[in-house]
Amino acid sequence: MARFDRATWRPVINRTPNGRTEQRGLVLHVQADDTSPFGWFNQSSSQASSDFWVSKSGSIEQYVDTGSDRAWAQAAGNRVYASVETEGYPSEPLTPAQIEGVAQIYAWGARLWGWPLQVVDNTTDRGLTWHGAGGSAWGGHPDCPGEIRKAQRGAIIARAAELLGAPTAPTAPAPPTRPAPTAPAWPGRYISLRSPYMRGDDVRRWQERMRARGWQLDVDGVYGPKSAAAARAFQIEKRLTPDSIIGPATWAAAWTAPVT
Ligand SMILES: [Zn+2]
Repeated sequence: MARFDRATWRPVINRTPNGRTEQRGLVLHVQADDTSPFGWFNQSSSQASSDFWVSKSGSIEQYVDTGSDRAWAQAAGNRVYASVETEGYPSEPLTPAQIEGVAQIYAWGARLWGWPLQVVDNTTDRGLTWHGAGGSAWGGHPDCPGEIRKAQRGAIIARAAELLGAPTAPTAPAPPTRPAPTAPAWPGRYISLRSPYMRGDDVRRWQERMRARGWQLDVDGVYGPKSAAAARAFQIEKRLTPDSIIGPATWAAAWTAPVT
């Protein structure tokens, strides 16, 4: 069961129960219309649906259970990516409220399944991609969601990173008067998301430090998707290369950047 608690739950008949095989990320669509697609998605003749819809005012509707069921938005891409329709037309940019809504959905997926905080332009990498990237296998919609909205995906990811990086009460960062501790020496190996996951004391040490600064991640010494998502969000915040790889700069920034 994976229903987003900020979305209005409006289940539709157009779906394939238990049809999801993977959680690779999210596909951005444009609706080319100005009203909730619920009625359209809930009649079998349309043969269409999506996981989500975000209105221009930022309200969110969810039509299928993203954790298990397959929506019908992007043909062969439905098994592996979730989908979000956005109200409006390709000639119109997403409103700020829509960017916020899509970012909230993305942050939710990042927490649940480790969707990486990255924009991708293909149908294999995990991240935030777009409908036309799938070509004919995804129904042949090269103009969905259009260049304007495609270019706004970076803003969506940046906002999702902010949402994920927000400190939580139990792990609130120390007051700013306390000086940051000196960075321990970089362990000498690049820590990245791999299979099997990298593990070790250096991973644990970095996780402890990030957690002390209010980032939500487990201190288990294993560099999994959650750690990688936090690393990427942290890199975006610190204007480092957002590659989720902990090299000397990212390592040092975790200690030398001021605790605020
Ligand atoms: Zn589309």
